[in-house]
Amino acid sequence: MLRLGGSDDLSERAGRLAGFGDVAAGPGRPAYPVAVSATELPHVDDAAVDTALRLLCDSALEPIVELVLLARDGGYEAHAHDGSVRFERAVSDGDDHEWVFTETQVTGRNPLGDRAIDRFAPLSEELANLQPDRTQNAYPFAFEQVAQLFDHPAAPDLCVVHTAAHHWASMGGHLGEHGSLASVQCRAPFLVSGCGAARRGWVDVPAQLVDVAPTVLALLGVEPTGGIGLDGRHRADALLAHQDGDVLVDLLDPTERPEVVVGFLLDGCNPNVLFDVVAAGEAPNIAALLAEGTALRNGIVSSLPTVTLPNHTTILTGRHPGHHGILHNAWWDRSRQERVTTNSPATWATAMEALAPGTDSIHSALRRAEPGAFTASVNEPADPGAVFSTFDLMRRGVRVPFPRSAEGLPHATEMFVRPVKDYATYTLVDHHGVEQAVGIIEGRYLDTDYPLPRFLWVNLTLTDSAFHEGGPHSEIARASIRDSDGRIGEIVAALDRRGVLERTAFFLCADHGMEESLPGVDGDWTPVLRDAGLDVRDEAFGFLYLDPGRGVTGNGSSPRS
Ligand SMILES: [Zn+2]
Repeated sequence: MLRLGGSDDLSERAGRLAGFGDVAAGPGRPAYPVAVSATELPHVDDAAVDTALRLLCDSALEPIVELVLLARDGGYEAHAHDGSVRFERAVSDGDDHEWVFTETQVTGRNPLGDRAIDRFAPLSEELANLQPDRTQNAYPFAFEQVAQLFDHPAAPDLCVVHTAAHHWASMGGHLGEHGSLASVQCRAPFLVSGCGAARRGWVDVPAQLVDVAPTVLALLGVEPTGGIGLDGRHRADALLAHQDGDVLVDLLDPTERPEVVVGFLLDGCNPNVLFDVVAAGEAPNIAALLAEGTALRNGIVSSLPTVTLPNHTTILTGRHPGHHGILHNAWWDRSRQERVTTNSPATWATAMEALAPGTDSIHSALRRAEPGAFTASVNEPADPGAVFSTFDLMRRGVRVPFPRSAEGLPHATEMFVRPVKDYATYTLVDHHGVEQAVGIIEGRYLDTDYPLPRFLWVNLTLTDSAFHEGGPHSEIARASIRDSDGRIGEIVAALDRRGVLERTAFFLCADHGMEESLPGVDGDWTPVLRDAGLDVRDEAFGFLYLDPGRGVTGNGSSPRS
């Protein structure tokens, strides 16, 4: 098995990460600069930025570049082929702990002018508008999403948001893609079910993934202890030490509280497709959850960049990527002059070293309220505070038995397991996850006895792989939902055998959406910038660092060790 360093040096290494100072919480003490002034922003070379913007928004790249985002001179800008907007952030005077945004300049069409949350839902709407143009798209919570990104000390100079159509086969692109700020790629499913959940069916509540952790803690019955809100101010009603989101009270029934909360993540599962498969009767276990709970009709909005590890971490910590520190699957750290890679098999076990100090989690907040509480995190790299964690076993060098072949496993659609290598691999991974979860619920896994978990988190990955492979509207994508539904059923059955099903709450979510790209719409922006003489790094497709050898300290000096 993997053995990747000892866990005892994690906090020490996290403390050395550049940019995040001591974030001790307290009334009136912001945890990060909430009203960024011009002198506090990293110095960017305006001439280079403007050259890059001109090229990125040119007709030649129009089919693949939807938007370009940046922060400068104390504000934020979004540029598109047909217009731009500049906006500024302020802290609300009220008790809502939100940011207030003011548009200060619009040229041409405002590229972030449409922030509807219900665009292209349900599935019929999405299918009638495949690869929507930027003028059709919506960008839910766009201002907040742009602003949070640039709070991170390693934020890029320019964030390029690709178009819905961008297929990018030459760079390993897939039929299904995500990562964008726009409707289909940012939207994930969210439902709460069982003991403590409201039984309202579908609701139209606007929500973001930062709302999940506070909502789950409220469901668990944890009382507010106060913390730092999105606006950097103390909020007495916070359930986490740092909390960017809010409790989604419409999804909860305050008259009952569960003994156990189980969270399922279906990675990369487009909610329109998920709920269509459920409506077709092909996912009976998720249908049963829906019948005993409440789901968001328009889904829940993931944080920019709408990719995996930043949003797993957002779900579990209640903070945006620009605040919890897991900025992207990979990024460039100017101060250390090195790439930080978090989302790869080689780095999953140690990915949380990049977590910003002071970042709380569902696990840690629950255990602070209930010191004896047992929590478990299955197959999840974002595991801070969990008592049991698959990746903690790996960090400690424990040999974890892994099934050898996916063929013949339950809930493994044979027509895809045999020919599609990734389908087989992630079937193995998810089967292994179910073995862990069921073992823990039954009280014993790998010769270790476990108490009943108060919170059990299960990360299921097959859906992301299958949705990428065939696109969200493919048969392989639907098969991955059916197979995952079977695995959810195994875990529900284990809770039933343990006699706690009536006292269990469930929630189900994803980390981002998935959109059908258009083969043939290929190409790359970086060569265009380099041909114009710009020195640029593109990290994780779209995070552009200009003059990457320039180390950023407050005054723009350049340590190049
Ligand atoms: Zn993902």
